[in-house]
This record gives sequence, structure tokens and C-alpha cells, in this order.
Amino acid sequence: MNSKQMANDTSDEDCDYLFKTILIGDSSVGKSNLLSRFAKDEFYLDSKPTIGVEFAYRNTKVGEKIVKAQIWDTAGQERFRAITSSYYRGALGAMLVYDITRNGTFESIKKWLHQLREFGDDDMVIVLVGNKSDLVDLREVDTEDGKKLAEIEKLCFMETSAKENLNVEDAFLQMITKIYEIAGQKSL
Ligand code: GDP
Repeated sequence: MNSKQMANDTSDEDCDYLFKTILIGDSSVGKSNLLSRFAKDEFYLDSKPTIGVEFAYRNTKVGEKIVKAQIWDTAGQERFRAITSSYYRGALGAMLVYDITRNGTFESIKKWLHQLREFGDDDMVIVLVGNKSDLVDLREVDTEDGKKLAEIEKLCFMETSAKENLNVEDAFLQMITKIYEIAGQKSL
């Protein structure tokens, strides 16, 4: 693998590798806040009103290399219409998010997985994320249930709180490192 194979249409010179990753999951599970926490270390109490795809970049060091993840957010698109196949196209990683305080968002995971597998690359790295772990008293989805599903579907798993900044960095880094490893193996 060289940087040109992974870089698409940007001319960024400040990294060794660049790849696209996406956030997916029901509305209001915390996708935008996970992204802003990871990319800018910010958290918003209210949902942002903007609708449409947005993305942010963040550089991460993996070993000696600088890896730049371009992370796409649905930015509310799923509320009003289906996510288009172009959203999934070219993504090497996906963070599949549910809200641990709303069982319905966990039940939707199967539907999102189906879409990821239909439209995404076969070896896409998928991390299942149970967000809002700070809301202990409102929990509806047991940690064990998240773990079990991840095992069955062969996904990485983590519970996070974008609000309290718990495991957010780890969840993204897990995805980015795995993508890097898989891409490296392919080039051998
Ligand atoms: P999205 O629609 O999936 O992008 O969700 P948002 O990021 O817009 O978040 C929806 C709501 O959940 C907002 O009011 C956020 O402030 C709130 N929220 C997001 N993450 C967390 C979290 O980890 N803990 C708590 N308590 N609230 C969160």
C-alpha cells in the first residue's frame, strides 16, 4: 500500500495515508457529537440543525506513520430520507452507533448492518458503539447484549460517552488502527 492507493481526491501532504470512514445509526444516538468530540474535542447539548452530509478530518499517529481519517457524518439525513449508496462508497471503516438508553436504536443495528454490507466494501472495519454510557439510570441496553451482538456479527465493540468523553478516542483509534493493519496486509 502506498499513500496514493489510499488517498482519493485530496492533495493533503501532511499525512502518510488518508481514508474515508463513516458514522451510521439512528437519529439522535450521538453520531455528530462523537465526531465533534474526536475531531475537535467539543460537545453540543442541542442537536445541530444542519441537514446533509458533513465530514471532518483528524490525523492520528499509528506507529511511525501519520494516518488521516476523513470521517463522514450523516448530519441528520436518516431522519428524512434513506442514506444513499454514495455515502457508503469507498469507506474503509464504519462506526455503527446506538443509544444505550433507547432499545429501538439497538434493534435498528441489524438494518444498518445490512445496508453496510450491501453498499460497503467487503472488508470494511465496523465498530459497534453503544453511546451515552453516562446515562446510567436510563440504560435500556445491557453491555452484554452489545458484546454478544458484536461477537455474532464479528464486529469490534465499545461503549462510549460523547458527553463525558469516555472511550471516544479509543473507539475511533480502534477503527483507524484496524483499517491501517488490513490495508498493510493487502499490500504484502
Ligand atoms: P445524531 O443525530 O446521531 O448526530 O445525534 P447528536 O450528536 O445530534 O446527539 C443527539 C442528542 O444526544 C443531543 O442532544 C446530544 O447532546 C445528546 N448526546 C450525544 N451524545 C451523548 C452522550 O454521550 N451522553 C449524553 N447524555 N447525551 C448525548
